[in-house]
Amino acid sequence: MIFENSLSFAQQQDRQDELSVFRDKFHFPIINDQRVLYFTGNSLGLAPKSAKEYVNAEMDEWAKWGVEGHFEAKNPWVSYHEILTPASAELVGANESEVVCMNSLTTNLHLLFVSFYQPSQHRYKIISEAKMFPSDRYLLETQVKHHGFSPDDAIIEVAPREGEHLIREEDILAAIDNHKDELALVFLGGVNYFTGQLFDMEKLTQAAHDVGALAGFDLAHAVGNVPLQLHDWHVDFAAWCTYKYLNGSAGNVGGIFVHDKHGNNTELPRFGGWWGHNKERRFLMENTFEPMSGAEGWQLSNVPIMGMAVLKSSLDIFQAAGIENLRAKSLQLTAYLEFVFNDIVSQFSNIELEIITPTEPEKRGCQLSVKLVGTDKSFFKALTEAGVIADFREPDVVRLAPTPLYNSFEDVYLFGQTLKSLLAGWQDE
Ligand SMILES: *Cc1c(COP(=O)(O)O)cnc(C)c1O
Repeated sequence: MIFENSLSFAQQQDRQDELSVFRDKFHFPIINDQRVLYFTGNSLGLAPKSAKEYVNAEMDEWAKWGVEGHFEAKNPWVSYHEILTPASAELVGANESEVVCMNSLTTNLHLLFVSFYQPSQHRYKIISEAKMFPSDRYLLETQVKHHGFSPDDAIIEVAPREGEHLIREEDILAAIDNHKDELALVFLGGVNYFTGQLFDMEKLTQAAHDVGALAGFDLAHAVGNVPLQLHDWHVDFAAWCTYKYLNGSAGNVGGIFVHDKHGNNTELPRFGGWWGHNKERRFLMENTFEPMSGAEGWQLSNVPIMGMAVLKSSLDIFQAAGIENLRAKSLQLTAYLEFVFNDIVSQFSNIELEIITPTEPEKRGCQLSVKLVGTDKSFFKALTEAGVIADFREPDVVRLAPTPLYNSFEDVYLFGQTLKSLLAGWQDE
């Protein structure tokens, strides 16, 4: 498509956009009497207007039934997590038996590592990307130490080459090959949180399997952003949070995927809790743990109904929109942001702003990461003051994520205008 950096073009795109109706289903923050330009769905998604109704419905059930709500509520609490499964399975491309919502992301990854990182003296290494999200890095560090290995030896980080920002997949494949006899696991972010780079999860999973290792992914930045086919890609396990693109509210429950080839193996080591126990016999209070088959067999505790009610409100919106439709819009919207950004930035020479996210649409989701070369964090602060909610990651990157669910082409155009006036008045200190 030929883009134009004009209001009329942007508004024309919005009129043709069948997903534009979903924008009105979310609350946009109003800060200093100004409705902000919100590009931070990759950090905390916006509040669905319907969430209150979903929560109030459960508050009413609680008032009406007390403890009996576990069985008598319209959506009985004892099985409430099950109503989140169909939409979650659709988003990650899984069978319903392969998915469950529970706990939070880092907790879930540790629980999955109990089952899927069982190193031996000879096979104990983990390949991951350099500069992982800190929580994932702490996960790897403490897991390898827990098994008596040294992080320096056991964690193989694949970094961008000198002078580059992105990790070349060929370098990950080479690392897999180099360490093939000692490799236990390949563990990566499906979409890198810092650069927005989308990895070929199918290819990397295949490469891990070819050398006898397993493959797992942190999908915090992938779920609800790009379509996934975890089952068909033969991914062994994955986990995600629901408060970023999924708009599930801050700190809400996460989700896990366990491929059926493992999920149905109830002999697989794991940590147990009563919610993962055979649900027909859960309330018999027996002594011996008998895991359910499927991802549900990794659950520990009964579930937080209020949080899950919020998540349900958002997943219902996702199902109505459809992840393939969202991706189709997202490809256009992100390309439009790239176009507008480059168009404005090329008019100025007082500052160097560089997009480090891959330029190929199939190698990224909706996030564009901008490196502030000729300036510092004060530029980001000025952007915030001008009504753009983006985020800053140390040392020098601003992340902008136009989400297809609630961002418009007009948002992108207006962002460009804000950027333009900021650059026009910008003086190096
Ligand atoms: C957001 C994010 C997390 C956050 O983990 P929590 O356990 O939900 O606090 C972890 N890893 C990645 C890659 C993330 O993007």
